Amino acid sequence: NKQVILRDYVTGFPQESDMYVITGTAKLKVPEDSKGVLVKNLYLSSDPYIRFLMGKRKPEGYSSFSSYTPGSPLTGYGVAKVLDSRNPGFKEGDLVWGITGWEEYSLITPPQRLFKIQHTDVPLSYYTGILGLPGLSAYAGFYEVSSPKKGDRVFISAASGAVGHLVGQFAKLMGCYVVGSAGSKEKVDLLKNKLGFDEAFNYKEEHNLDAALKRCFPEGIDIYFENVGGKMLDAVLLNMRVRGRIAACGMISQYNLDQPEGVRNLMSIVYKRVHFEGFSVYDFYHLYPKFLDVVLPYIRGGKITYIEDIVEGLEKGPGAIIGLFKGRNVGKQVVVVAHE
Ligand code: NDP
Repeated sequence: NKQVILRDYVTGFPQESDMYVITGTAKLKVPEDSKGVLVKNLYLSSDPYIRFLMGKRKPEGYSSFSSYTPGSPLTGYGVAKVLDSRNPGFKEGDLVWGITGWEEYSLITPPQRLFKIQHTDVPLSYYTGILGLPGLSAYAGFYEVSSPKKGDRVFISAASGAVGHLVGQFAKLMGCYVVGSAGSKEKVDLLKNKLGFDEAFNYKEEHNLDAALKRCFPEGIDIYFENVGGKMLDAVLLNMRVRGRIAACGMISQYNLDQPEGVRNLMSIVYKRVHFEGFSVYDFYHLYPKFLDVVLPYIRGGKITYIEDIVEGLEKGPGAIIGLFKGRNVGKQVVVVAHE
């Protein structure tokens, strides 16, 4: 059973050497009365929150999961096939998505955030992305948190990533004007030429983010879908419209810093009467059926272009996690463990 193991608690910027891959020999058997399941992992989801769990102390207030234990395999979202079950909710052969281990086979006793996959006419890997945590985050953050309406001017940071590229397309489908920022020319081209964004810019090449935003939003921003924080947030605050909304999904530029950067332009929230709301996808799981009703037809009807960045093999797992913080991924970063 090949596994991705955390070497030691991480401080600062994570490195691939903070993890290693071993082949465990323990025989996995579901204990009677455990309500557990044994699964074969197929696809794993490389997500930024994994960094929080690598630290000895999680960020204050972050309560969704416990920190990893050095010497043990990482856990995270994935797609798997049930091989054996002592749980009435699952049976052998079921396909599931949810929390599993970064390993070939996982004993999950008992499963907590594990859901049966009902629709298999789409690629199963989609349940790590557009039909999983990032998709639901994009949906909840955009439709439920940012109060969008047709014609709104929407800005999205980390716009070519798993969450961002979906938010942009939801906003276009609603008839919004949509601009994204991303960290390379290739990503900017993708946003403008393949994903239908009205404008996009490479934040790494703009000397003045405020000027870049003024160029794209001469009349200001109605909705900012926040994925990165830091300097970008500061520049956005200067460009919000009166009664604009900020849906704060994440602030990836801050995750590896010992001390978070200060934000200077917070007073804009007052002057412009901005509604600034953070959210956690875990508060929106009850919307999953409604979300599927919206998103599955978009996928089947070709209304959304979904981008995956797929690497093959658990050995590539550490690199796929670190790559998120270097901007290496284009679209949803997926690690293939096995193709069924
Ligand atoms: P992505 O697929 O967008 O991958 C991360 C991207 O962030 C990178 O590709 C990179 O793109 C960008 N990035 C990395 N470091 C920096 C930096 N220092 N400054 C600016 N951009 C950076 O990840 P996800 O779509 O999965 O996640 C997007 C955000 O949403 C994250 O902040 C994540 O924590 C958050 N999130 C929150 C959830 C919630 O419940 N609130 C649930 C899921 C995700 P680039 O080339 O553009 O720099």
